[in-house]
Amino acid sequence: MLRRVLIIDEVAPRRIRLQAGLQAACYEVRSACGLAEGLALLRGPPADLVLLSGGLITGPSACDLLRRRAGQPGLPILALLQQGEGEARVRVLLAGASEVLPEDASAHFQLAQIRSFLRQSSGPRALYDEMPDGFCEAPPGLERPSLIAVVGPEARAESWCRSLRPFLAPHRLTPLSRRSLLEREDLSPDALLLCAAPGAEEAPGLLADLLARRGPAAAPLVRISPSGTAAQDAAALDLGADAVLPAVVTPLEAATRLRRLIGRRLRNETRMRLLHDGLRLALTDPLTGLSNRRHALPALSRMLRETGPGGTDCAVMLLDLDHFKQVNDTFGHAAGDDVLTEVARRLRSGLEPDDLIARYGGEEFLIAAKLGAGRDPLALADHLRCALALRPIPLPAERRSLPVTASIGLALSRGAACLADEMLKRADEALLSAKRQGRNQVCLARQLAA
Ligand code: GH3
Ligand code: MG
Ligand code: MG
Repeated sequence: MLRRVLIIDEVAPRRIRLQAGLQAACYEVRSACGLAEGLALLRGPPADLVLLSGGLITGPSACDLLRRRAGQPGLPILALLQQGEGEARVRVLLAGASEVLPEDASAHFQLAQIRSFLRQSSGPRALYDEMPDGFCEAPPGLERPSLIAVVGPEARAESWCRSLRPFLAPHRLTPLSRRSLLEREDLSPDALLLCAAPGAEEAPGLLADLLARRGPAAAPLVRISPSGTAAQDAAALDLGADAVLPAVVTPLEAATRLRRLIGRRLRNETRMRLLHDGLRLALTDPLTGLSNRRHALPALSRMLRETGPGGTDCAVMLLDLDHFKQVNDTFGHAAGDDVLTEVARRLRSGLEPDDLIARYGGEEFLIAAKLGAGRDPLALADHLRCALALRPIPLPAERRSLPVTASIGLALSRGAACLADEMLKRADEALLSAKRQGRNQVCLARQLAA
């Protein structure tokens, strides 16, 4: 799969070295020696990632301009700087760079850093970005105080907590042992900072263990490289660590990274919640709160798969309100809506929680129920009919009640393995018979030939 990298660097030898390394790793690379040329190149084929000289990031505008020109608010931009340029590293992060690509790091580490960002930008964030408008836009939320677990040898973890606290309010920091973190159910920190003792790697497998236990709205994990072994650092990024920082990192730089990753996680969490809500709403009828047809049909098929020889029988009903058009014509559409809402409520409360009820069309409902011992389908259908017919529906705005009746077509699976389509077809034929025979009644569908 082709991935495109754009290098914007005024330092020619560095630019040429990076370009050669990336081409050897099978990236399509374009390069520019300044911002204006880089912006012009973004008019062409899109870029998946930009490597930008730290010297060209003088304020927020460079990263903003590139992302706007590319039309990708999440475009990863890695700033080219030396490991030791502590202040400049913080400056470019605050100016919008996604991360620093240390130019004095090994090619192995640099490629892992690039892979890490390409993976992130095509992960869940990309999914959210592709959702239709209004589906899962994360509103700009307030920063919620988060818990950051600092994992490492006790004295070192405590020392990191102390030095980070002044930079990370209102977030809380707590030192945690590997064992507590892996074993305690009540602990779910919002971010993890790993700080092994200098020169020593963390416990074998710890990183993999932590990353494997992260949920979909993963707590970001930042690793302070204990020994600066390029291979271990690259492996940490490839495993899924969100950032690997040099052993010499300052508390301010580590805090800048943690704050930003926590913000990203909160946004993703909100987006995920909105996405779930959106999906639920897409399967729900907004007027009555019942399932809609899109949700009901697969649910009916699932229910019917559990029927048939050896399984429980199933009753499928189509219920259609009688002369409902007259309600709208006489009292208006809003009154019609009130009637539909009350009908849905009465039908739902006449059923068991596991039964299926959906708004199948305008004034038509689909009901399916498993027929356990002693459950008589004709009695159930008539119980639903009576729930409407015996008590007129109040229309408070009209200061009156309205008699409403329904006709029901009932199809039974009767020991046979039935498909949803054929059950619905039979229920629909029975519903037509109920209408023809005068409405306000239940009609049983023909049985399938044995
Ligand atoms: P029948 O007894 O033969 O079923 O007669 P009917 O009047 O109920 O059937 P018809 O198909 O002629 O009309 C159905 C009406 O249901 C027409 C439509 O305006 C109304 N309707 C469908 N959806 C809604 C809705 O969401 N709200 C309201 N208020 N009315 C709706
Ligand atoms: Mg009708
Ligand atoms: Mg109808």
